[in-house]
Amino acid sequence: MPMPSYPIRCYSRGCEELAVYKIAARWSDGVTQELKTYALTCPACLAESFRTSRAKQAACRLAPGETLESPGIYELARGRHDPELLRRTDLEQQLLQT
Ligand SMILES: [Zn+2]
Repeated sequence: MPMPSYPIRCYSRGCEELAVYKIAARWSDGVTQELKTYALTCPACLAESFRTSRAKQAACRLAPGETLESPGIYELARGRHDPELLRRTDLEQQLLQT
């Protein structure tokens, strides 16, 4: 699915900022693979959203044969498809260390 062309707002409750990052994890059932979105977030809410997304992922129950990676941080870019999104492993590492 391409990103919609209208502005996307941060998922955090009460936050009016535009989303800049997408927190998503690769899911696969062995046949198909997709990016499962956990949150869209502005820079200010990133740390909290990332923490919550990791907790959700860890609590997720998988069917036999399914795999779900730890959520990663992707830079949102208008008009880009999921496989083209830039992954910010530098930010992930920063947040995991704090
Ligand atoms: Zn926010």
